[in-house]
Amino acid sequence: MAYSVPKLADYSPAALDQAVRELLSAVRQEAEAARTENDWKVFRDRWMARKNGLLTQVNDLWLKAAPGPAKRNVGARVNQIRTEVEQAVDSAQQRVSGSASAGRLELERIDITLPGIRRPLGAEHPVLRTMNEIVSVFRAMGYSVAEGPEIETDYLNFEALNFPPNHPARDTQDTIFVAGQEKKPQRDRLLLRTHTSPVQIRAMMATPPPIRVVVPGKVHRADTADATHSPIFHQVEGLAVDTNITFCDLKGTLDHAMKSLFGSDVKTRFFPSFFPFTEPSADVSITCFKCGGKGCRLCKMSGWIELLGCGMVDPNVFNFVQGNGYDARKVSGFAFGMGVERITMLKYGIDDIQLFYQGDVRFLEQFA
Ligand SMILES: [Zn+2]
Repeated sequence: MAYSVPKLADYSPAALDQAVRELLSAVRQEAEAARTENDWKVFRDRWMARKNGLLTQVNDLWLKAAPGPAKRNVGARVNQIRTEVEQAVDSAQQRVSGSASAGRLELERIDITLPGIRRPLGAEHPVLRTMNEIVSVFRAMGYSVAEGPEIETDYLNFEALNFPPNHPARDTQDTIFVAGQEKKPQRDRLLLRTHTSPVQIRAMMATPPPIRVVVPGKVHRADTADATHSPIFHQVEGLAVDTNITFCDLKGTLDHAMKSLFGSDVKTRFFPSFFPFTEPSADVSITCFKCGGKGCRLCKMSGWIELLGCGMVDPNVFNFVQGNGYDARKVSGFAFGMGVERITMLKYGIDDIQLFYQGDVRFLEQFA
């Protein structure tokens, strides 16, 4: 049965001692019985509530009711009771909250013997890896890196690169134009760049000669996707302009670059070719890096693999830069460009360009 404060009839020291002992024994038992935060609050309020708490009752029933001569003695004991009740309430609180946090610790316990969750690490996409490799070969030769927008004007994508309007080379590019520009003059019409070459013009307009710049980037053509074609692919293009740049510089630069990329045994071969923005122009083949030139399936038994296009910058292109020191009578230069997907496919023996864009982790993780 719960303790209640009795009225005192006998105020003798012995009777007071007895009453105090009973009260303190009750408060200790109740303090120990409190298990939860809520138990403790009930316990605290039962004893310490200002209105009708047991301490208030002790004050009213024992001290206020005490006859004059006993008041001093009763008052001392009431003070002792108050101190002991406060201590009991405090220590019960500590015990209850201590066990609550112990319970929380138990809930949040980490079993360090469980095997961990291994998150797959990301890796460079094979196309980006090849592109970075090519760029770093030219950076080592002192080239800076330039990038440009993928949406270009007809002027920078074609005209300034010496493709006149109605030039047959424009048809071969299968250009994707931005819709709804029929009212604009042709040179202002926007298109998805078909090559990284407009960045050459942008670089020359921004920087006077001498310039050595390498341009990695994404390009777009209206090609139907198949094993060797994709409407989006990547190029790395380069441009060097200075006084007295000759075709020998071009050959030496590309020979060195191909040896850096494919191994020092690789030989290069230049064939006459045509690009509107270079004159003369050449296609470059390297000895097959798989069979070393003996002939295999990769090089179609020829021993050679055609890898990039290049040439001396056509003087007309300098005229389109309109100043900035690009005077065709004073400076000369060369340019080259290569397809990153094609090189990646050759390097890793990949036979379908679509694998690069399908995001299939089983394919991509081979390059991690
Ligand atoms: Zn071969």
